[in-house]
Amino acid sequence: MEVRVRYAPSPTGLQHIGGVRTALFNYFFARANGGKFILRVEDTDQERYSDESLQDLYDTLSWLGIAWDEGPVVGGPCGPYVQSERFDLYKKYAEQLVADGKAYYCYCTPERLDALRAEQQAAKSEQQGYDRHCINLTEEQRKEYESQGLKPVIRLKVPMEGKTTFHDVLMGDITRRNRDVSPDPVLLKSDGFPTYHLANVIDDHMMGITHIMRAQEWIPSGPLHVILYEAFGWEPPLYCHLPMVMGKDGQKLSKRHGSTSVRDFRTKGYLPEALMNYVSMVGWSYDGQREFFTKEELEQVFTLEKINKAPGVFDYKKLDWFNGQYIRQKSDEDLTALLLPYMQEAGFVTLPLTETQQRKMAELVPVVKERLKVLSDVVDLSRFLFEEPTYEDLSLFVAKGASPDIALTALTEAYEVLKTGFSQGLDHEQIEAQISELAVKLGTKVNGVFMPLRVAITGSAVSLPLFDSIHLLGQEKTFARIETALALLRSEVR
Ligand code: GLU
Ligand code: ZN
Repeated sequence: MEVRVRYAPSPTGLQHIGGVRTALFNYFFARANGGKFILRVEDTDQERYSDESLQDLYDTLSWLGIAWDEGPVVGGPCGPYVQSERFDLYKKYAEQLVADGKAYYCYCTPERLDALRAEQQAAKSEQQGYDRHCINLTEEQRKEYESQGLKPVIRLKVPMEGKTTFHDVLMGDITRRNRDVSPDPVLLKSDGFPTYHLANVIDDHMMGITHIMRAQEWIPSGPLHVILYEAFGWEPPLYCHLPMVMGKDGQKLSKRHGSTSVRDFRTKGYLPEALMNYVSMVGWSYDGQREFFTKEELEQVFTLEKINKAPGVFDYKKLDWFNGQYIRQKSDEDLTALLLPYMQEAGFVTLPLTETQQRKMAELVPVVKERLKVLSDVVDLSRFLFEEPTYEDLSLFVAKGASPDIALTALTEAYEVLKTGFSQGLDHEQIEAQISELAVKLGTKVNGVFMPLRVAITGSAVSLPLFDSIHLLGQEKTFARIETALALLRSEVR
């Protein structure tokens, strides 16, 4: 049997980490089994639908390099793959269920249903939900309602007795008493729109889906879906509900933890291969050891059995580390191309680069490569090359444990060491050793001397390595900045 799986997002928001992980697991599972990966757009909720979300879905998958075998744009034998284009089908099948006695028309008005709900709540009655008022309407009663201009919904007859079991590859059998399944859910609304349950079940069947991998939050819908499959006389697919993605605090991953939309990660400069690799390790592992995989490798080795039962932890720091590793694997040339948009946006360079800018980039990229966690870090790390520091915050000059006095003396003397060192042609190690000795002499930590120097040269307490910075900036500018900083510090200390 050919494996056929699908990712079935609702375009009602930006693609987020959890959704993309579902997409990746489905995609890798299809590839590893020589099957098909299908994209289906579940846009039945017209109120929450947005074009922007749909575009974001396409952009995200194409940025990650996930191609779908069947779906919107590419088409396929079970199309259309957009639910709003399949409404006739849902209507036909819902009416079929009515004809088979598995569903029925209900003419209850919203007012009646509201009143019912209020009554049930007031009475704290055990019976919650629809009261099956219309389950046995006669043809005359129906005609009467129709003549009043009422439009019916179609409701599924949930069996009142018995139990329903569905099997989940990870969780095993999940059984629920039918009378605990919320009674008689609407399948087709009065405006002809299907509900999620109806459209989802019909499409999974019609599209020949063999395995359903989706978020665990859908488990409560499982029994209802199985009842629907039974009503149609169809075989349900295999279920594999994926454990939740949570933050380090054990709560479901959300905006409280940081960015969750893939678009944000992309804007900050995470590489698609890093994000894909890391997200695939959230709740899945190969052998508990190896963590680095290319997309092609995951397409080979992915298996359902290695999905963890426990929720997966999304660790932002770990992702940063992964991203840094992937950045360092880039050639200087490729990395330059990736960094330029950020530098252009910061106003540091113009495109196409001038010759001077090209030379500067060629020097900068290998140095900055070792320091980047995300591509956008390049802006703060290279700002000193393109803008004069303003030294607004003089406290930056004073390292922890030092004083403004020490900072001033340290900078004054370090400047002398630098000038003499360079004029004598000493190498970095020698000059660095002399600066470290200065710290001993002044009775401060090494940073007590290096910090004022770093801040004078780059305007920031976080920078590229000191001698790389000096080299990139050039001696002349370096010395001029130190003098400016010295003058400022002197006026402050006095
Ligand atoms: N449209 C649903 C969602 O957005 C699909 C759930 C499913 O995979 O069955 O999560
Ligand atoms: Zn009714």
